[in-house]
Amino acid sequence: MNGAINLGKIFGIQFRLHYSWFFIFVLITVSLSWQYFPFAYPGWNSAVYWVTGIIASLVFFTSVLIHELSHSLVGKANGIPVKSITLFIFGGVAHMTREASHHSAELKMAAAGPLASLVLAGLFFLLHLATRNMIEPVGAAAFWLAQINAVLAIFNLIPGFPLDGGRVFRSLIWRFSGDYQRATKIATRVGRGVGYLFIAGGIALVFLLPGQWFSGIWLAFIGWFLQNTASASYRQSQWQRTLQGITVAELMTPDCPVITPDVTINRLVQEYIFASGHHCFLVIGEGELTGILTLGNIKSVARPNWETTQVKDIMTPAEKLVVVSPEQDGLSVLEQMQENDVNQMPVVREGRVIGLITRDNLLRLIHTRSKLGM
Ligand SMILES: [Zn+2]
Repeated sequence: MNGAINLGKIFGIQFRLHYSWFFIFVLITVSLSWQYFPFAYPGWNSAVYWVTGIIASLVFFTSVLIHELSHSLVGKANGIPVKSITLFIFGGVAHMTREASHHSAELKMAAAGPLASLVLAGLFFLLHLATRNMIEPVGAAAFWLAQINAVLAIFNLIPGFPLDGGRVFRSLIWRFSGDYQRATKIATRVGRGVGYLFIAGGIALVFLLPGQWFSGIWLAFIGWFLQNTASASYRQSQWQRTLQGITVAELMTPDCPVITPDVTINRLVQEYIFASGHHCFLVIGEGELTGILTLGNIKSVARPNWETTQVKDIMTPAEKLVVVSPEQDGLSVLEQMQENDVNQMPVVREGRVIGLITRDNLLRLIHTRSKLGM
């Protein structure tokens, strides 16, 4: 998700705030301070409405963070690393870098969020009971927070992928059928169905109860988002799964040509690239890998300088290279490429380069498998 502000790290997880979050924050604060509290609790002065609204709204978003954090911590404990959590217009989303490899891990991780929201709902309700007769605004905010956390838990338990309930649903089908692909397919279909139901419900609301037009549009909007996300999550979980199931050794280009550091760019292009079509070279000087050279490096040199520039002047030097081992899976390599912003990595076994893996190797595999419908 682009367009987000970094808030910092908790438990090694990056917290981010998407710009669309500000819209929903203002919307919730205004509707609390202007409508909900004045209507339900007449007689406070207007500053109290606003302060209570702002605090309730902030605590609500903290609750959403706690929901996402529960997913993340349970995920981490079960071998599913979570990189970041982003709050945006429809709540929060935890970015996992890989899919669960076992149904029980998926079940625990998916259930953790709604469970946390239910616990929060219970705690806020207790706070409401304890404070309602003493400090009315605190009791009122606690009551609203109890309700909204319960709604959050129930909404997320709707059994459509990628909602938490959809993940729980998928893990159960996966468990009983033993077939991850089929489970994902079914959960995605239900997820899209739920999305369409929301859209239909939203449109119906606009026409049947014109006074509720805003809720209707909002419901349809959420449905549209769910329907879209279901398809996108399906594709993503397919290719993540594909890359998780294959090793670097199976994907790499083993015959990466070796060149020496003192070859000029002109000679390299004429004699190696045009002749062989290779796009990447291992630069070996005195028996050791000193760097790698790609078309990207060559493009950075102006044509007239090709005659005088040598490979060693523009190659990516060995000390700057991030290497992978042949046993690593494809997904972890793609993650490393994204982190280091590189398109290829030398594959090293016991200190020796045995091949090269490129982003193209990975994308071609995903493309081929999706074309075959696998
Ligand atoms: Zn959740």
